[in-house]
Amino acid sequence: MSFDSMTSTPPIMAPGTCVAVLLPLPLAGAYDYRVGDEPLRPGDFVEVPLGRRVQVGVVWGEAKGDVAEAKLRPVGRRLAALPLPEVSRAFVDWVARYTLAPAGAVLKMTMSVPAALEPPRGLAACRRVDPPPADLRATPARAKVLAAAAALPPLTVADLAREAGVGIGVVRGLVEAKALEMVELPTPPAFQRPDLERPGPSLSPGQRAAADALVAAVGSGFSVQLLDGVTGSGKTEVYFEAVAAAVARGGQALVLLPEIALSSQWLERFTRRFGVKPAQWHSELGDARRRDTWRAVADGSARVVVGARSALFLPFKDLALIVVDEEHDGAFKQEDGVSYHARDMAVVRAQLGAIPAVLASATPSLESFANVQAGRYVRLHLPDRHAGAQMPDIQAVDLRRHPPPRGQWLSPLLVEALEGAFAAGEQAMLYLNRRGYAPLTLCRGCGHRLQCPHCTAWLVEHRSAGRLICHHCGYRIRLPEKCPHCEAVDSFAACGPGVERVAEEAEARFPGIRMAVMTSDTCQGPHAAAELVRKVADHEIDLLVGTQIVAKGYHFPMLTVVGVVDADLGLEGGDLRAGERTLQLLSQVAGRAGRAERPGRVLLQTYQPDHPVMRALRSGTRDAFMAREAEARRDCAMPPYGRLAALILSGPDMGVLDGFAARLSRKAPVGAGIEVLGPAPAPMALLRGRHRRRFLVKAVRTVNLQALLRDWLGREEVPGGVRVQVDIDPYSFF
Ligand code: ADP
Ligand code: ZN
Repeated sequence: MSFDSMTSTPPIMAPGTCVAVLLPLPLAGAYDYRVGDEPLRPGDFVEVPLGRRVQVGVVWGEAKGDVAEAKLRPVGRRLAALPLPEVSRAFVDWVARYTLAPAGAVLKMTMSVPAALEPPRGLAACRRVDPPPADLRATPARAKVLAAAAALPPLTVADLAREAGVGIGVVRGLVEAKALEMVELPTPPAFQRPDLERPGPSLSPGQRAAADALVAAVGSGFSVQLLDGVTGSGKTEVYFEAVAAAVARGGQALVLLPEIALSSQWLERFTRRFGVKPAQWHSELGDARRRDTWRAVADGSARVVVGARSALFLPFKDLALIVVDEEHDGAFKQEDGVSYHARDMAVVRAQLGAIPAVLASATPSLESFANVQAGRYVRLHLPDRHAGAQMPDIQAVDLRRHPPPRGQWLSPLLVEALEGAFAAGEQAMLYLNRRGYAPLTLCRGCGHRLQCPHCTAWLVEHRSAGRLICHHCGYRIRLPEKCPHCEAVDSFAACGPGVERVAEEAEARFPGIRMAVMTSDTCQGPHAAAELVRKVADHEIDLLVGTQIVAKGYHFPMLTVVGVVDADLGLEGGDLRAGERTLQLLSQVAGRAGRAERPGRVLLQTYQPDHPVMRALRSGTRDAFMAREAEARRDCAMPPYGRLAALILSGPDMGVLDGFAARLSRKAPVGAGIEVLGPAPAPMALLRGRHRRRFLVKAVRTVNLQALLRDWLGREEVPGGVRVQVDIDPYSFF
């Protein structure tokens, strides 16, 4: 049942009764207060006293009754903002229970813009007072202003002065003399309604069938559809039809993208389709825009919101559809603060709101495939590229047989392919998921490696910035003159390539080629990224060298050759999802090649051309690869066939930390289907100056993992300075 249908008559909490108010703070739960003079309803935003402060919170429900009524303090002012809808409150509670985060910490993600709770201040405008005060001193300038004010609607002081052709002081003087009065103009809506009359593209029969299924799901309660379509198959155009259907029904639609700052092409396409810009939600919004957007989401006037994962927690008035594009993308997992996976929580939010969720990807996650297999999700398949474009030809370049010259990184085969593309007037891309110039710097004399003093990590050379940088804590130094260990002078050698080094090599190899490097270092902010993407699309760039941000769904019709400099990079380490993730990332990168008339070619430089991931990529046998992965995970009861949680303990004092870890270990839960691994030093045993220890808790699906963890953690006092992070369904294991 939909929450919206349940909320027609929310209970009224009368003055003098007690209510629970949840505050956006990491407290254990809601606190009880006495209702003041004004009756309240659940969801109302109210001010309450907390210690000596006044704090804004949300009326959460009935009082818990754990404090004697006589001791309760009264609720203060009720804010004019619309109450937080019941489905939003249920979502906060659900996420808190699932992630083991305090409910207030989750609420804080919903109340991320406190200023939006105050009524918007309209534009102050002045209007003529009729009749004017009898004692008004008349001057020619004043007469001009009064004449203009009589003829025009209320204007701001500055506008009225301009219209009358006088200085601002004259207008101000008239306000003071009470010949003009100030009124507030209503604020214009922050977002325009998408134009549903504009014709969409004419869809192919396959696209049409998928779009029809999505459109039919809108308004038909909860469902999850997995839109599984190859790169360039038109998934975006297809789900736009569902967005249009949601808006046509009077509802709102939310589209989550992994990296909104890199999505200029997506925004252009939306604007082309609907004639207006969608509301955007991401960390780079200015304060005023953030406030207006939050309000417009809450009052329903923002009909389509596109955002990063945090947009899921916005207080939608009437959400009718959630789309998660690139659902396999790791950027949907948040790891600091409340640790949650936005794709999974999007499905929960859809279920609570009784609305459809659409998960789109060219390489769906194993989790989503498993849900299709279990009959929980419906799969819609787009096996072909739009307009007859062919899938690119993918080949492995065996680096053992075709090594690059010493000290270089591009194999002769790749160089040849690039030369071919440039000679034909086409574009190329080189992909290496490593920022900077070299991942490791060592002393040729003694082998000493330059390491971050605060983290278990090498310092990465960024030659363009003239610094060595720790990618984990931001620590940066100039290259020392002498080796700190053996004092040898000028003895450092850069080991291995980063994108800067590959770009340097390409520059030397292909003189005259217009090249750009795209990484989070060179593309700071959405505007820089959008400008670079435009340049590539307009063929002002011949060669794009970049990290995984070049793989983000871009459509460059003239791009035909993609070179993956180190295809083995993601396969290192014992990560549960290393194979799956490498396949997804490389498919995404490969998917940039040959998206229009000209066919594409992808070269994967690898030392393991027969690795299952390389074979799956080369022969397009993704489904077989995923089936084998699924089997392997099922065999060892790993997610999604078993439950997994990580516990990360960290603290500045190693002795205190290890003592706590040992005590916790002695009280670790035991039972059938439960396995606790650790404590072990985390691979990143030191991070930002804090030592780290990990437990991994594995359980069969029938075990209530959250209850188990809550019980376990409740049995041992956490010493001062130590932090315990719970990560349900962990995706990174550093
Ligand atoms: P995907 O997201 O599946 O990789 P896109 O939605 O980006 O694919 O589509 C690839 C390109 O093809 C885009 O430029 C898109 O506008 C275009 N396209 C897809 N379907 C159609 C269609 N039916 N008519 C016109 N252009 C289309
Ligand atoms: Zn560091």
